[in-house]
Amino acid sequence: MLDSDNPLVKEYFRKMVGDEGLEIMANVPDGEITDEEIAKLSDTKLTAVRKVLYRLYENRIAEYRTERDDNSGWITYLWCFNQDNVTKIMEEEAEVELAELSNKLEYERGGVFYQCKCLRVLFEDAVEKDFWCDECNANFEFSDNSDLIKKLEADIAKIEKWKKKIRG
Ligand SMILES: [Zn+2]
Repeated sequence: MLDSDNPLVKEYFRKMVGDEGLEIMANVPDGEITDEEIAKLSDTKLTAVRKVLYRLYENRIAEYRTERDDNSGWITYLWCFNQDNVTKIMEEEAEVELAELSNKLEYERGGVFYQCKCLRVLFEDAVEKDFWCDECNANFEFSDNSDLIKKLEADIAKIEKWKKKIRG
């Protein structure tokens, strides 16, 4: 169900359910499935699967319904993923990341930077220090950030492209 190869989404779910949880999620097909089936599919202990499922349930990523066998009285938990919420989370993650990157980009575009051996500062700060850093006893030299700006622009473009694809 988690077919996203986007590192942002992976990181988001890794924080929620850990590496083992990610692997378990990757093994869950679309539609309803029991926890025993998930354990078998992902070759994981049932207790670990349940832990992940309840964590996902708390975060409204997974839902379940129960079915009762009239003869045996056994109750089966049928789990499925809330794809709408997964989509929503992916979009929110994309938004957060885009906002952060845009702020960084704006900051880099708007400033002229200088660098000593230990610090990177704005031109204004370098002037204030007479272009000399007392910490590392070195001059503040002009630091070209055009590569960094290019990288930020590329990262933003990548996430925007991905965001468009989320809803397919
Ligand atoms: Zn320094």
